[in-house]
Amino acid sequence: MRKYIIVEQAEKCCGCGACVNACARGAITMKEDKAGFIFPAVDTAQCVECGRCVEVCVFDKKQQGAHESCTVYAAAVRDKAVLGESSSGGIFTALATAVLEKGGAVFGAAWEPGLSLEHICVESPKQLQRLRGSKYVQSTTGSTFRRVKELLQAGRYVCYSGTPCQIAGLKAYLGGEDEKLLTVDIICHGVPSMKMLRDDLNALTGGNSAAIRDVRFRDKAYGWGVKGSVSTGSTKIKYNANTSPYYFYFLEGEVYRESCYHCRFPAEGRQGDITLGDYWGIRSALIDKMGGANPDLGISCVLVNSEKGKQWFEAIAPALAYAPSTRESVEKRNGQLSKASVPLPEHKALLEGYEQRGYAAFCSGYKKHTKDHLLRKAKEMVPSKVKRKLNELR
Ligand SMILES: Cc1cc2nc3c(=O)[nH]c(=O)nc-3n(C[C@H](O)[C@H](O)[C@H](O)COP(=O)(O)OP(=O)(O)OC[C@H]3O[C@@H](n4cnc5c(N)ncnc54)[C@H](O)[C@@H]3O)c2cc1C
Ligand code: SF4
Ligand code: SF4
Ligand code: SF4
Repeated sequence: MRKYIIVEQAEKCCGCGACVNACARGAITMKEDKAGFIFPAVDTAQCVECGRCVEVCVFDKKQQGAHESCTVYAAAVRDKAVLGESSSGGIFTALATAVLEKGGAVFGAAWEPGLSLEHICVESPKQLQRLRGSKYVQSTTGSTFRRVKELLQAGRYVCYSGTPCQIAGLKAYLGGEDEKLLTVDIICHGVPSMKMLRDDLNALTGGNSAAIRDVRFRDKAYGWGVKGSVSTGSTKIKYNANTSPYYFYFLEGEVYRESCYHCRFPAEGRQGDITLGDYWGIRSALIDKMGGANPDLGISCVLVNSEKGKQWFEAIAPALAYAPSTRESVEKRNGQLSKASVPLPEHKALLEGYEQRGYAAFCSGYKKHTKDHLLRKAKEMVPSKVKRKLNELR
């Protein structure tokens, strides 16, 4: 039996990079498949079959340290500037700032030159701006897990934020918890590939994606929602489901990596000490209890999953407008807290079309799908009483 990692089924690898970080021989690199999803590839000439990469692979085993219960809040930072730059309630920045104030380091996803999304390490409040905002695409963890280990060994505080599978990968690599490590995971329904996003941005800018200076999936200039913008220095282009096939299919849940449709983390308990998400559908009665939160600027749901998470939440509480809530209430509009995304029937054909014929072919059904989507949504909005009457008349 081989002792090094081989991904035989795409659904069994989330691309967390724990195996890459674990290999002391540097024998593993992440390579893109035809659709751009990243998977580990082993250089067998370098490999000594130590089995470490197999040991740290999280996706097929029950994960140690998954937190089973949580305390839930609706919350938003009071700092309007931070709130404006964050996708949701800005809680990530509050936590990250608290860790930096203790001389710690913060890891999160940032755009890098050449349109790639990578996890980076930040050690000053000024640099935090690069981590702010949801980027709806898979980020690569590079060698950040190793860096976290070094920092913890040096006695520093560390905050690592990412998708649940990235946090699970980090903890598997480290071999468990560390009292100075604060992990923050996001409510996650899935990630598309960076290759597809690059193709989309290239199409959006008429082949001029090299001029792009910033991509915001959620631009608060348009309120708290899923409307974004792409800046090319002098111009700002609207970026949303009406202007981008990529964004449309992302929101529809059609173009995630296969592991996302088989994600075990929603059912298995949270991976982070703290989980952050958007408090979609928050009731006005709850907003009133928060003491000054403005739903137009964004409100987060915060799940505090461990004793360590509780201590950090208490440390940032003075900077927040917040009120207690329940997981059930959050779940009403965030089903991915308890189950993995389910693809629509078009999913396979869409990705195959992209792999075989490129981005233009992928976009060909976009107009029809947006129309179908609108009809579906309109049907959902018809009250059941009216639906019953219409059926009786048929
Ligand atoms: C791919 C993705 C899917 C999401 N799906 C949902 C959802 O279905 N429901 C929901 O309620 N919330 C979802 N979120 C989370 C939500 O959009 C906010 O990121 C979260 O509420 C934190 O908001 P904030 O205002 O506190 O911080 P922000 O400043 O908005 O968030 C920044 C944090 O998000 C991390 N981050 C950004 N992009 C990525 C990425 N691609 N991979 C890993 N980490 C990243 C950064 O490292 C940083 O820590 C998703 C986020 C991402 C990235
Ligand atoms: S078995 Fe060991 S040497 Fe080979 S790829 Fe895995 S971690 Fe690297
Ligand atoms: S450790 Fe992560 S990236 Fe490596 S094979 Fe396992 S799931 Fe994939
Ligand atoms: S849905 Fe699951 S597998 Fe996919 S990125 Fe999110 S946590 Fe990872």
